[in-house]
Amino acid sequence: MSNTTFEEIGQVLRGNQCFAILSHVRPDGDALGSQLALALSLQQLGKDVRIWNEDGMLEKYSFLPRAELLTKPPSTAIDVDVAVALDTAIQNRLGTTLAAVGSAKIWINIDHHRSNPGYGDLVIIDSSAPATGEIIFRLIKSQDLPFNHDIAENLFAAISTDTGSFQYPKTSARTFEIAAELVRVGGLDVGQISQQLYENYPRRRLELLRDLLRTMRFGEDGRVASFSLSLKTAAALAVLPEDNEGLIDHLRAIRGVIVAVFFEELADGKVRVSMRSKDEAVDVCAICQKFGGGGHTLAAGARIRGSLAEVEEKVLEEIGEVLKRDS
Ligand code: 5GP
Ligand code: MN
Repeated sequence: MSNTTFEEIGQVLRGNQCFAILSHVRPDGDALGSQLALALSLQQLGKDVRIWNEDGMLEKYSFLPRAELLTKPPSTAIDVDVAVALDTAIQNRLGTTLAAVGSAKIWINIDHHRSNPGYGDLVIIDSSAPATGEIIFRLIKSQDLPFNHDIAENLFAAISTDTGSFQYPKTSARTFEIAAELVRVGGLDVGQISQQLYENYPRRRLELLRDLLRTMRFGEDGRVASFSLSLKTAAALAVLPEDNEGLIDHLRAIRGVIVAVFFEELADGKVRVSMRSKDEAVDVCAICQKFGGGGHTLAAGARIRGSLAEVEEKVLEEIGEVLKRDS
């Protein structure tokens, strides 16, 4: 599966009229920011653009410029010329937006997940990019597509969140150069955006963290740390799914921890597993793929059928095996 060129994608974007811009369920800042940025650029070109996510716009990201344009998909399918999947490692993670696209002449798939199999007609998978937002910036720039303050702010939020505020290992000189250009040309206020992203959490998120820390466990001589969230606790604290984004970083930040795991009981009889590694030799994407998930070498996830206790046991055992073998 080989990548297409930005030129070819640029031609398709310019040569068609009706677009649906989609991303994955349980979206993060990279998903939502990338969707809005590409959509706003296309709108400036005079295109008809629909921006759909199964979960709609999250409260947490509703400060993003033109956030109101991103909605849940309609229940009856709509035909478009071009459907674009962003930041979505596997097509079924598009959730209900997939069925909302009736017919599309062309499917474009732009992503930075190594595990992406390359579904669609025109594909750009760049696993060296720390965020899909970085690829969207390069597309806009190289094809001379419209760019303005609102697009810049959405891309900055995408890149900032997916790099853990420019900290994760894939953060490169190019990432800083792109961020600098977003700030300079887009006229961004970094302090203000960062405050919206990182200093504006609802109190219940910290209450959730307090409960999660009570369930914290260590294994493999302190190299594995995990905590878990039951449906009961989630209901008692009235947490939203988005509240737990980033809480796993508290486990990763512990000295000696190589693998951090977050288990979240879901209402459909599955458990959402979120995994982080601090060592390239311990590939959590490969571990998650064993359970039907995917992601990146150092950050991956899966949804696994079973009770919280069953899934915890299975997954922690597999991590133990890998640690014994690979590190
Ligand atoms: P998170 O732990 O933040 O939910 O996800 C970490 C990374 O793993 C993300 O890049 C995400 O796309 C990927 N990921 C999370 N859950 C799943 C899943 O169930 N299936 C696949 N294929 N990837 C996932
Ligand atoms: Mn991403």
